[in-house]
Amino acid sequence: MPDATKGAMMTSASAEAQRRGLMLVLSSPSGAGKSTIARLLLEKEDTIELSISVTTRPRRSSEIDGVHYHFVSPERFDQMRERGELLEWAEVHGNFYATPRDPVETALKAGRDVLFDIDIQGTFQLYERMREDVVSVFILPPSIAEMKSRLHRRAEDTEEVILRRLKTAVGEMRHWAEYDYVVVNDDLGRAYEGVRAILRAERLKQSRSPAIGGFIDGMLADLRQELG
Ligand code: 5GP
Repeated sequence: MPDATKGAMMTSASAEAQRRGLMLVLSSPSGAGKSTIARLLLEKEDTIELSISVTTRPRRSSEIDGVHYHFVSPERFDQMRERGELLEWAEVHGNFYATPRDPVETALKAGRDVLFDIDIQGTFQLYERMREDVVSVFILPPSIAEMKSRLHRRAEDTEEVILRRLKTAVGEMRHWAEYDYVVVNDDLGRAYEGVRAILRAERLKQSRSPAIGGFIDGMLADLRQELG
């Protein structure tokens, strides 16, 4: 097939449509505002979907099974793990959490992006298994005082649970440098715009669009013909 014909067939839109999806991992200590940023992204960005984790943690009154998490028994969790149905898993604050594999692989292949609200242990497991696909963002609270007051305002956890979450935060924050990006959530609108900018730029990375080479080759062939 002559190069010029190839160029006519491959448009910028078809090259973009063949883009592999990316995995946007948002991590933060509890109370840094990560869930709100995640919710805004899911509302406003139509090609991103949430990876719904499975967990053995009891459901909070505000949560819906199948929407916020798939709530499962420890026995069911072990079964999923043994069958290789989990992309990563971790124990956090005494409960088990994991990412089901199938929905993620299907979305990436179809060129859809997947948003993850997972902890640092899960992020590192995804690095090991799928580093090329992962874009990780660590969200920090503006101060420890603000983080504590957000946890208290949520008023869904006991004082003991809040204390445990603050202790976990110390361990997690030490790993900030292992993330691709760090965003300080001192203003929700600004932090959200930061994460959105990261997503937009990462979507345009040439390594995520293998078909873009064909599109550019076609343009070069057209140009060569034009120039004689
Ligand atoms: P929470 O109980 O507040 O919903 O979540 C507690 C922690 O577990 C958060 O840091 C959250 O990001 C993390 N988490 C939620 N789902 C997963 C998951 O599928 N895998 C891992 N590794 N962590 C998760």
